[in-house]
Amino acid sequence: MTAFVFNEINFDDHEQVVFASEAKSGLKAIIAVHNTNLGPAMGGCRMWNYADEAEAVRDVLRLSRGMTYKNAVAGLPIGGGKSVIIGNPKTDKTPALFEALGEALERLGGRYVTAEDVGTSPADMANVASKTKYVAGLGDRGDPSPYTALGCFVGAQAAVKHHFKRDSFDGLTVALQGLGHVGYDYARQLKEAGAKLIVTDIDQAALKRAQEELGAEVVAIDAIYDVQADIYAPCALGATLNPDTLSRLKAKIVAGGANNQLATPEMGEICRQKGILYAPDFVINAGGIIKVCYEYLNTPEDGMVAHVRRIGETLAEVFARADAEGLPTSVIADRIAEAKFKK
Ligand code: NAD
Repeated sequence: MTAFVFNEINFDDHEQVVFASEAKSGLKAIIAVHNTNLGPAMGGCRMWNYADEAEAVRDVLRLSRGMTYKNAVAGLPIGGGKSVIIGNPKTDKTPALFEALGEALERLGGRYVTAEDVGTSPADMANVASKTKYVAGLGDRGDPSPYTALGCFVGAQAAVKHHFKRDSFDGLTVALQGLGHVGYDYARQLKEAGAKLIVTDIDQAALKRAQEELGAEVVAIDAIYDVQADIYAPCALGATLNPDTLSRLKAKIVAGGANNQLATPEMGEICRQKGILYAPDFVINAGGIIKVCYEYLNTPEDGMVAHVRRIGETLAEVFARADAEGLPTSVIADRIAEAKFKK
């Protein structure tokens, strides 16, 4: 028999992987607790029409591991976990489905705390919350995206300081992909700081708004990789740093909010060789989880914005160490995380 979990490429000593099902609601979910050395595992619940169960297992293993690294580098007292529900978020959602997930989380006794993610909404999380208190980022507490955008902005400032040896964005051009919850707010802050914007999106209304409000220049979806820019800001899709795009990008800094920007880990080294300063995604986009974590733990919020702003200091440390050690920024960021969460 082929063992498909322990041999799976994304399996990384996960503490616990739970398969949760309930016949009445049709729930089929997988909950992965990657590491709880720093505190209860926290990470969102994704609902997706996975091609098969193996794909769902791969995804939850990969995503939960990523949360451990993100939460550790952000200096949060939480570990990393994630859950996935197998199903079509457009057609298969019912309150009972999310209540059944809540019951499964309750059985885990707080080792894993869930939140909204791709395919799930604040309303779904309210149904989870009817059965368990182990859920964060409920709708009434506000959208984390502005804090993710703020983290991206201070991260870009740190990158500009490191690479261009200056504090201002005046005269710098940013090629920004994806004007959604994170991207638009980030674009606004860049504009206010003096940057020129070149943007793309599949949403025509978002493009029109950016043209009118931010004076942004609009380019076609694929053209964003070819424009003359100083900073590339991916805020839509993953895997946009790949051999094709890295041979085209003119930017010397990559600083954006998207998750999983490197198509493969080797892309970090290619960035280094090309002299592109890459702000590791899980460091720069941690503003949202910082906000959600403060809320969940009822930590007084006065320190929260300062905590998000420290993303800039963390990145300055990543960049300096990467230079000193001749290693990709992505490797240094992993090492900083591992030093915090590995016992
Ligand atoms: P969103 O759905 O609000 O925005 C995504 C935007 O990208 C939309 O405007 C969409 O039209 C656009 N888009 C989709 N495909 C595109 C393409 N091929 N080319 C250009 N644009 C395209 O999502 P968001 O909440 O702003 O998140 C953006 C990214 O940041 C995602 O990768 C997400 O995982 C990551 N992220 C978000 C948060 C958060 O707090 N929202 C936190 C951490 C990471």
